[in-house]
Amino acid sequence: MEEKVVLTKLSKEELTDFLLTLDDKKFRANQVINWIYNKSVSDFDEMSDVKSDLREKLKEIALITDVKIKTKQQSKDGTIKYLLEYSDGEVAECVLMRFDNRGNLTACVSSQIGCPVGCIFCATGKRGFIRNMLPYEIVEQILTIQRDTKLKVTNVVFMGQGEPFLNFDNVYKAIEIINSQLQIGIRRITVSTSGIVPNIIKISSCSLIPTLAISLHCPISKLRSEIMPIENKYNLEELKKALQYYIEKTGKRVTLEYILIGKLTDTKQMALELSKYMKDIKCNVNLIPYNPVENNNPLLKKPDKKDIMLFKYILESSGKKVTIRLERGADIDAACGQLAGKN
Ligand code: SAH
Ligand code: SF4
Repeated sequence: MEEKVVLTKLSKEELTDFLLTLDDKKFRANQVINWIYNKSVSDFDEMSDVKSDLREKLKEIALITDVKIKTKQQSKDGTIKYLLEYSDGEVAECVLMRFDNRGNLTACVSSQIGCPVGCIFCATGKRGFIRNMLPYEIVEQILTIQRDTKLKVTNVVFMGQGEPFLNFDNVYKAIEIINSQLQIGIRRITVSTSGIVPNIIKISSCSLIPTLAISLHCPISKLRSEIMPIENKYNLEELKKALQYYIEKTGKRVTLEYILIGKLTDTKQMALELSKYMKDIKCNVNLIPYNPVENNNPLLKKPDKKDIMLFKYILESSGKKVTIRLERGADIDAACGQLAGKN
């Protein structure tokens, strides 16, 4: 049997051309595209306004997707974690978070299978690097969530597995599709990076500029290099210059993500150093209490509540807006740093 054509693998132009070979009416091609991307159907039979002989033809020779849900777990707080299986058998997670009372639905997506950066506190980093993800494999994470829940994702954060800026071209193409086909505004798309300096510079001149979140995690170079090896390649000073360039060029503010590791990065001295570091960076700060992950270094501990509050207070006194990241889905290992593609 010939292999079926996987429709979400095709670009919009390729998909249109393919559909036109089956039926030469452009509006019919657009109907099908709309069912796939906006109504997120999983079955050709759901495409109710598409002529039945076109649907039958599609069933015979095409698949909407070749990505499968391997497992699905729902947390007490409503967070849902999916483990997806790709056509080569590799797996990656994506997470749906129901964040707030504004009705936002945020998809947290992976950009690589595994991650080469190797931060010591991160379960993904422990797994090592397997491969980059293709644009459609990234977009499929959002489509899968929409197909499964029948809900429309409103925000996307690249905070799943992988370092998005070490897979720049595919991530950028995925952002273009998310923006144009899934109609999610660029202001609602956030890329989190451990600080890949050349690509922070590069994104500043792109036509679509997502919001940046930076995994800073430590304001002192020596300690940062011990917990995040990327510091040896792009250090805090270069990172600061790149952020200032992005801010200047785009007019946007960045978010600095900061892991509070008990008695290591959550101390008063660190808070003062961090205040100094970000004095001339237009930013907000998002504090992330460390989530314990399997087989982690015994030096890595959860922070005490009073240390978190003091840390926050010191940063606020320096004039920054500070939020503490709510722990989401920790009961199903869906919280930050817990995504390891466990199966
Ligand atoms: N690789 C990118 C995108 C992943 S985002 C990056 O690092 O920015 C996931 C966020 O969770 C990052 O800020 C990451 O540093 C943080 N994180 C990783 N492990 C964690 C842990 N055990 N506890 C809390 N946050 C963690
Ligand atoms: Fe990779 Fe980000 Fe985990 Fe570091 S924190 S290992 S960059 S996924």
